[in-house]
Amino acid sequence: MRRVSSWGRLSALPHEVIELGDRGRVAEALAVGRRGIAYGLGRSYGDVCLNPDGVLWRTAGLDRFVAFDEASGRLVCEAGVALRDIQRLAIPRGWGLPVLPGTEFVTVGGAIANDVHGKNHHATGTFGDHVRSLRLVRTDGREIRCGPDEEAAWFAATVGGLGLTGLIVEAELRLKPVPGPWLESETLAYAGLADFFRLSDESHPAWEQAVSWIDCTSGEVARGLFMRARPVAGERGAWRERRLAMPLVPPVSLVNRLTLRPLNIAYWMANKRRLGRRIVHYEPFLFPLDAIRAWNRMYGPAGFYQYQCVVPREAGHAAIAEMLAVIARSGEGSVLAVLKTFGDRWPPGLLSFARPGVTLALDFQNRAGIEALFERLDAIVSAAGGRLYPAKDARMPRSMFEQGYPRLGEFSAYRDPGMSSAMSRRLMGS
Ligand SMILES: Cc1cc2nc3c(=O)[nH]c(=O)nc-3n(C[C@H](O)[C@H](O)[C@H](O)COP(=O)(O)OP(=O)(O)OC[C@H]3O[C@@H](n4cnc5c(N)ncnc54)[C@H](O)[C@@H]3O)c2cc1C
Repeated sequence: MRRVSSWGRLSALPHEVIELGDRGRVAEALAVGRRGIAYGLGRSYGDVCLNPDGVLWRTAGLDRFVAFDEASGRLVCEAGVALRDIQRLAIPRGWGLPVLPGTEFVTVGGAIANDVHGKNHHATGTFGDHVRSLRLVRTDGREIRCGPDEEAAWFAATVGGLGLTGLIVEAELRLKPVPGPWLESETLAYAGLADFFRLSDESHPAWEQAVSWIDCTSGEVARGLFMRARPVAGERGAWRERRLAMPLVPPVSLVNRLTLRPLNIAYWMANKRRLGRRIVHYEPFLFPLDAIRAWNRMYGPAGFYQYQCVVPREAGHAAIAEMLAVIARSGEGSVLAVLKTFGDRWPPGLLSFARPGVTLALDFQNRAGIEALFERLDAIVSAAGGRLYPAKDARMPRSMFEQGYPRLGEFSAYRDPGMSSAMSRRLMGS
């Protein structure tokens, strides 16, 4: 038994960890007679990848590339391959992943199981939109190959299926042509949500990447920074990766009621000096947090929650304004509050999160009383017809999950009875 956490570090409970390394022997490894769940790189914040006192099949050893066609951008790889390794292989050859979340330390299996999105949802949809096929192994030994045109119902259940339809062993991905590793980026300051929505709408046609940071401590007309970027060709010289690390877990959270406002002000001041256009490497633009290894330790021994919702665009302005007001009144808040609009595309999975609308993501220190704030935010999200992101969640009530994911009933038929997680028991009862 080994103590395992997810990214939020809310718990470190014992698990029976089974390491997978040979894709030909996965069925054997799944036939242990006890229920379990796949674990990629543990970059989910809550309990979607945890199964305390039960089995975890760790997939990081399934890390081989199987085939890469440099003429078409078709890539076949094992499910434990990290997105970072795909980028490092593909970019020098003129190809890149069409969808990348805010960290590169995510496996292909994890990216499919949560159907992750990037800052370019308006341009390219979700990760599942670019999966041509995948190979799924069930705990009864059955193997299913599925894709948008082959066993499409299994594909729709497995993309965004939270690891509950079986273990993804291999996937075939469609990469997109890229001119190189460089982006032309622009940072703009905004004041208030109307300004944010105006910038989003104006940016979507011409800028592939668009995201914003919002200072949730700045009052009624919230200030923020809008960052947009698009690929640019040409040689720009060498880029050197600089990486810091959070060496230990401090005894108390470094983000707390006292530091929240100063930290937001510091972020604002530091970035306000960098307004305007520049050429940047894709890594610092797309994955700014990857520059500090183990940054999640800064929340101290109790860990932290991420609260990420999406609400339909029609209700979006009012709902986000109300949420920011409730957060400000509570005295809680987030240093890294991210606000972005999704494009109009509906996602391929029955339980995929990203949908047309606006998404807000905030980190909160885990402290007594925080659940009361979450309940107030839940009420606003539900009233607006929105939902929470399971990849980030550790506490949403089952009723909210059922309301936010109306295709749950359809999904249930595809569950592998041998797969179970702390999240599936909390939100689906088994
Ligand atoms: C700093 C940071 C930024 C992030 N930014 C974004 C973002 O912008 N957009 C976004 O969408 N997400 C974002 N995330 C969340 C992250 O992309 C997802 O949680 C992702 O699923 C994590 O992948 P993982 O390989 O670590 O999988 P894990 O977290 O270990 O597991 C995630 C889920 O995938 C399942 N799974 C893993 N491998 C397999 C497999 N082989 N077969 C079947 N199921 C499997 C697990 O059972 C679990 O249900 C971010 C996370 C961090 C830490």
